This record gives sequence, C-alpha cells and structure tokens, in this order.
Amino acid sequence: SDALAHAESLIALIPDFPEPGILFRDISPLLADATALRTVVDAIVAPFAREFDVVAGVEARGFLIAGAVAAACGVGMVPIRKAGKLPRPAASVSYDLEYGQATIEMADDLPRGTRVLLVDDVLATGGTLRAAQRLLEGLGHRTVGTAVLMELSDLGGQDVCGPVHTVFRV
Ligand code: IMP
Repeated sequence: SDALAHAESLIALIPDFPEPGILFRDISPLLADATALRTVVDAIVAPFAREFDVVAGVEARGFLIAGAVAAACGVGMVPIRKAGKLPRPAASVSYDLEYGQATIEMADDLPRGTRVLLVDDVLATGGTLRAAQRLLEGLGHRTVGTAVLMELSDLGGQDVCGPVHTVFRV
C-alpha cells in the first residue's frame, strides 16, 4: 500500500555503522512519524489478531515495537533483556554472535502457557530471535508468532527462527 511504502521510505540507511562495511537500517524516523508508526504496527499484528495474550520485545529497539503493539492491541508487554539488567531474571539463554557470545534474560511474570507474540525491529541471522524463542519456551510459554519490521533476507534468518512475519524485506 501507499502507507506502507511511505513508512518504508522513512527508514534511513547508514553506511559503515556500527562498523565499516555494515549498512545499518535506522528505524527512528519511521517511529517518529505518527501515520507510519500506526501503519507498521497494524501490519505487524495483522496475521495474529486476537491470537496472543502478551507481546515480548528484545532489547533495545524491540522494546519500542513491542510497546506500540501492546498499546494498540490492549495487551501487556514483556521485555527480553541483555544479561545483567533485570533484578529478578527467571531464565537466561546464551547464543553465538559473529564475534563472541550474548546472553538474554527474562523475568517470569506470566502464567504458564501464555500466548506470546515475539517482536523485534530487524531480523538478520536470526540468532537473537531464536534465543528469545528458546527463552520463552523454557519458561513454558507459547510463541504463537514471531514478527519483525524488517528482514535482511540474504542472511538466512528464516531458516534459524522462522517462520517470521516480516513487514519489509530487503
Ligand atoms: P540477528 O541476531 O543476527 O538476527 O540480529 C538481529 C539483531 O541485531 C536485532 O536485535 C537488531 O536490532 C540488530 N540489527 C541487526 N542489523 C540491524 C540493522 O541494520 N538495523 C538495526 N538493527 C539491526
């Protein structure tokens, strides 16, 4: 649609960030635009309407998407955080990055079996969302959907943590 095309046009392409050779997709201008934000929130939830009890977002830009989705849908949200930030982590999962490792953690404030829509801003290799899916599963929750604003399809993330619902694919 025109509204989606306009929203996509607001994503800024930043060469050589955070390292030389990386083309970083900066969604900040899209988030700052009321119509664009509403349009992408609607597109993220469209396949999952009324199928989830809560939205989980991965630190840090996933929090922004999750908060907007939760407010629009009238559900709660859960932050999945980098290790060491939560006062009462209930579970943690470590995963490999291109260089080194990362760990994510979650509190357990949800009844067992809660239906979760898991969101993030960008799907790259899929390692982050796979780790988040394992974290939710380990706590006995059901990930009924995984959705991102943008997928970098060359990196094979769908094979690692798919199917992932994607609003914009490059
Ligand atoms: P993955 O684990 O390789 O799929 O990387 C996904 C994570 O890296 C997400 O949490 C994204 O926020 C972040 N990420 C990777 N590439 C970009 C980008 O171009 N823009 C914004 N975030 C990115």
